[in-house]
Amino acid sequence: MNSSPEPALQVHNLGVTFRDASGVVHALHDLSFSLPPNGFVSLIGPSGSGKSTLLKVVAGLVPPTHGSVRFSPDHSKIGMVFQKANLMPWRRVIDNISLPLELKGLPREDIHAQAQELIRLVGLEGFENAYPRDLSGGMAQRVAIARSLMQDPDILLLDEPFGALDALTRERMGDELLYIWQARRKTVLLVTHSIPEAIYLSDQVLALSSRPGSIVLDLPVHLPRPRTPEMRYSEIFSELTHTLRDTLHEDNGLVQ
Ligand code: ADP
Ligand code: MG
Repeated sequence: MNSSPEPALQVHNLGVTFRDASGVVHALHDLSFSLPPNGFVSLIGPSGSGKSTLLKVVAGLVPPTHGSVRFSPDHSKIGMVFQKANLMPWRRVIDNISLPLELKGLPREDIHAQAQELIRLVGLEGFENAYPRDLSGGMAQRVAIARSLMQDPDILLLDEPFGALDALTRERMGDELLYIWQARRKTVLLVTHSIPEAIYLSDQVLALSSRPGSIVLDLPVHLPRPRTPEMRYSEIFSELTHTLRDTLHEDNGLVQ
């Protein structure tokens, strides 16, 4: 048997410094971690600790100042979901989801067939022709997730995707995200402010220090899969919650 598989992504000694008119900001410092293929890893840390910057570096939108980001050869396609769905208000649900492939100039029927399949996956059947103004926050995020899956990314980066949703919707969306992750075998890196959300969803939680962000805890989550809501009341869940909360409070206490 092979030992552990090659990581989907390896971040090594990453540092990011921004320089602009107002001065120099050290956003990330000496940060190293790897994502196992098909793993679900969450990143939690105070505001301004460089979480969004880290996702942007992984997505290739911000260059590293120091260090490196290396992908395994079969994990080069990236999808990204943000806190705001950023849908085009004049486009129907199906046309918002289709957009990434339309821009590539693929035939419309093929695109719509794929979009329809994703609409089923994210539970939006019946809303294909709705406009964004008619959607709830949770539904809009489902559209954003489906759109990000259109190009069949190997790695899915999610930046506080449920941050603007009410607590119950948020929990339901978490379960749906797990379903999608398992159905589509993606490697996921999720940024969240919620300690229970990070634990419930992940195989591993990375806690960042306040700025400049570096990893202060790399916490494995040995809860069985599939996850079920009752697990939130288990002893192991509450131990993990304590560990994570203590670490984050020691550093500054800005998270919930
Ligand atoms: P988080 O997502 O953890 O809240 P960010 O990654 O958004 O943190 O930001 C980390 C720090 O880097 C913040 O102080 C922010 O103001 C700064 N920053 C982010 N992007 C830029 C940029 N393009 N130019 C200058 N400073 C930036
Ligand atoms: Mg952010």
